[in-house]
Order: sequence, then C-alpha cells, then structure tokens
Amino acid sequence: MNQPIITRFAPSPTGFLHVGGARTALFNWLLARRTGGKYFLRIEDTDLARSTQQAVDQLLEDLKWLGLQHDNPELVYQSKRLAIYDANIDRLLTEGKAYRAYETKEELEALQKQAERDKRGFLYRRRELAADLVKQFEAERRPAVVRLAMPVKDYSFDDQILGEIKLSAAQVDDFVIRKTDGMPTYHFAVVVDDAEMGITHVVRGQEHTLNTFKHIALQEALGLSRPSYAHLPVILNRDDGKKMGKRDRDKKIRVAAHNWIKNQKKAAVDLADACGFAEDKLQNWLKSDQQQLDLGDQMAVMRVVGLRETDLPEILVHDFRKNGYLPEALLNFLALLGWNPGDNLEKMTLGEMTKLFSLEGVNKSGAKFDRDKLAAFNTAAVASAPADRLLAGLKDFLACNPASPLARATDEQLGQVLAMSSGFRNFRDVEDKCRGLFLRDDEIVYQPDAVEKVLKKNDGEGLAVLRDVAIVLDELDVWTHESIEAAIKQFAESKQLGLGKVAQPIRVAITGTTISPSIGQSLALLGKSSTLKRIRTATG
Ligand code: GLU
Repeated sequence: MNQPIITRFAPSPTGFLHVGGARTALFNWLLARRTGGKYFLRIEDTDLARSTQQAVDQLLEDLKWLGLQHDNPELVYQSKRLAIYDANIDRLLTEGKAYRAYETKEELEALQKQAERDKRGFLYRRRELAADLVKQFEAERRPAVVRLAMPVKDYSFDDQILGEIKLSAAQVDDFVIRKTDGMPTYHFAVVVDDAEMGITHVVRGQEHTLNTFKHIALQEALGLSRPSYAHLPVILNRDDGKKMGKRDRDKKIRVAAHNWIKNQKKAAVDLADACGFAEDKLQNWLKSDQQQLDLGDQMAVMRVVGLRETDLPEILVHDFRKNGYLPEALLNFLALLGWNPGDNLEKMTLGEMTKLFSLEGVNKSGAKFDRDKLAAFNTAAVASAPADRLLAGLKDFLACNPASPLARATDEQLGQVLAMSSGFRNFRDVEDKCRGLFLRDDEIVYQPDAVEKVLKKNDGEGLAVLRDVAIVLDELDVWTHESIEAAIKQFAESKQLGLGKVAQPIRVAITGTTISPSIGQSLALLGKSSTLKRIRTATG
C-alpha cells in the first residue's frame, strides 16, 4: 500500500449518536487503524436550525465512551468553513458550471406536480432565463439557490462493498449546492471537505449510495480527485425486518397504550385525559405507526401505562450506556453488523478487530440487530472482565443514572455488590437486584403482591416467621454474611422450614420486593440496625 488510508466519520450533530452512526464510526476507525492510516472526525453542522453545541458534546461523549478517538487535533466544523465553500461556489458560478435559480417553493411544487401528472420523476434541469428577467429578480432581491449544472452523461463508480453502481444520463439532476439562506448543501460541503482533509476512503451508510453521483459530479467540476467509496448495509430490527430507528421506541409505547386501554377497560379519551393531551392527537398516534410523539408526550403516556424508559428498545449509544452495557461488548456486537471476519469468529477485542478488519468482509444486505446476541456478548464480557474494569463500568453506569440509590454507595460497597451479582447480563440487572439495599429505611416501598404472597398468605405465616427470626438476628453479635447465613439456616432447621420460607419474608421486609442477592450477603451489606428496623416496619 503506497498511499496511507485516511477515513472520516462525518455526523450531523442533531442529538445523541445512533448505533448506525457508531457502526460507521467504528468501521472507519478500524479501516484506518488496520492500515496505519488516519481517522478524522468532522461535524456536519450546516443545518443551523437542527445542529446544537449540546448535540456535538453528546456525540463526542458517546464516541469517547466507545473508545473511538479521532486523529485530527482540531475538530472540523463545517459551520466555520463557510468562506471556503463560498469561494468554491463563486468559482463554479464564474466558470458557468453552476447557476442561480429563482423558483419559489410554490413554483417548484407546481413543477413536481406536473411531473407526477406526466408519470415521470421530477428532475431539475437548467431553464434559460432572459437576461431582463434575471435583472428583475436581482432587483427584487428574489431569493435564489445555486445549482450545479450537472453534465448530462452516464455516471458510474465502483463501490467497495456493493460493486459497480450506475446512474444513467436520463437521471441527471441539477441539484442545489447553496441554499437561499447562503449555506452550502450537505453535498457541496462534503465534497470540498473530503478533498481538503485528504480523505482517501469514504465509508458511510447505504442511504448515501446514490448521493455519490452528485459528489462525483462536483469533484469533476471542481477538479478534485475521487476517493474510494464503500456503503454499509442498513441495520434492521431482528423481529420485523424493518430499518431500526427511533420509531421502534414509539411502537413499544403504542403497544403498551393499546394494552392499557384493553386491560383497564378504558377508552382512548381516558388515556388522553390522564396524559393531559387532546383526544384526537392521541387517537391519531394510536392508529398510525408513522406518527411519533415527542419526548415529553412519550413520557406522559409511559407514566400512565406503567412503562419505564428502560423498557424501551435501545437505539442510541447513550441508551445502551444508560442500560448498563460495556462499550467493549457493544463495539464487538456492532462490528458484526455487516462484517464477517471469517472463521466463524465472533468474540473479539478492539485490538483483534483492528488486525482483521477489511471492507471485503462487509456484506451488501441488511444486518439484523439481534438484542439477545448483544445481551449474550455483554454477559460474556462481564464474566471475563477484571474487578477494576467492572467497578469503573458500574460507576459510569451510575453517573448516567444519578437517581439510582446505588449512586450513594462507596466504591467498597460497589465492589461487594459486583461480587455478589456474578453472572449478570448488564449493570441494569445489578441495579434492579441490589437497589433495595441502598434505599434509606424510609424509602422502601412494599409491593402489594409481594406482601400478600410472602407475608400475609396462610394467616400471616411469613409475618410470624419474621417476628421469630428477628429475635435470632437481634442476638447475633458477629454480623457477617457467613454468620447471618448460619443463623438463618439453624433457625429454619429448628422450625423445620425450608430456607426459602425464611429468606423470602426477610427479603420482602428489607427491600419491599422478592428480589435481592443471597440473603446473608444482603443483610451483611445492609447492616444489623437497618435490617431489624425494616423487619419491625414490615411486621407492624
Ligand atoms: N452528515 C452525513 C450524515 O450524518 C454524513 C454523510 C457522509 O458520510 O458523507 O449522514
């Protein structure tokens, strides 16, 4: 290889990083690292209305969490490069390779409608305007876009994944390169920047495959060389085979909303009232999976129907982080979305992936996102991670979930929590299992089902056990998990009860639920005084 490979990831900063974007970043990173090249990050923020600094910060944070550091010391922001785009556009205008077009939105719509009536696709081609008319438009300061006069000919390029891709002369379109607000379009900025940054390989999602013809036409007009192109397969939901996206979260909420209406024998209007929004808005959303609620409204419906944010399918990198996945497991899983390293190899570290990665191993067809497989990857990554890695991971999870009672724990306690949770899938499971032990005594919420089944059933059998075992625990001088377990075991034997008949009532008393780590470890962590206090509260 004589020329070093230079790749880039060029996200539009409109929010947290989607897993599809993360996979694109990863493949670009791997390709550069594999070949000793460079991987650059560029912020495509020419859509000023949608791009925010907060979104940029979130994106950088997600990439850092994944461990995909970029090699450009200074981030490239397109919004700071307007003078460069303008100079290039002016040059094309002077050379007659681009021109101003003055159609209003309404005029363009009329042209589109006409194309529909004629049963042909709408393609904009240069319309000669009389010099007087141009003068008049300019005098009126009529807003104008700049369009590339795209040479009418056949185009083709060799995609490194998809093979030869063609565009016939009949499909050529004079697309916009500068908008009426003076901003360059994505197509223009991307071409200028890729050239200036010396990008040799453009690796991006398949939604951009056909855009490449526009980019090639611009490269030819500007006299720039053409990088290699590779378009990555779409990421699909495993279950419905549809493109994975934010809509899937809405879908889950919609299903829960329908179930709520059915199970509670209510009507849509009741749900609308409970959520505090208009019935027709709710009805429209319930009926159509094309509609999405905004975040605030989603939360309102979820509160009413009893769905937690963590019940929703993760879509963003941040969702996975918040639900307690390890970045190394997520990266490994993302790498296999479309890439086949060969030899049935699946579990790989980033270093191993770097050694093996090649675009030849990337498939053309859609990649299914199998959440069970990701959970299995994470379970395996957890099982093989050293204790300090897990502690750092758990602390990162808690930093993303500051409301968790575990956020109050010391590092030593977190270490104990991890030691008693072995075999867990993700940190969310650890938190579900151990949270009760870190609630304050007055924060315990007794779940009615658990109280009924474990404490009150059979004339308060569980409550009686609790009162008796409290005496034994009170008398225990050494409070370690071994001594507690031995005392409880001895107590159970003396009463001829199975261990569960004693442990479960204690568990409900101390956590309000039927879930906690082993009873000896739970009580040891909780401490004697809280244990006895909670048992007293439960027995009333
Ligand atoms: N900003 C574009 C996107 O986020 C990048 C496209 C490209 O890589 O050329 O989809």
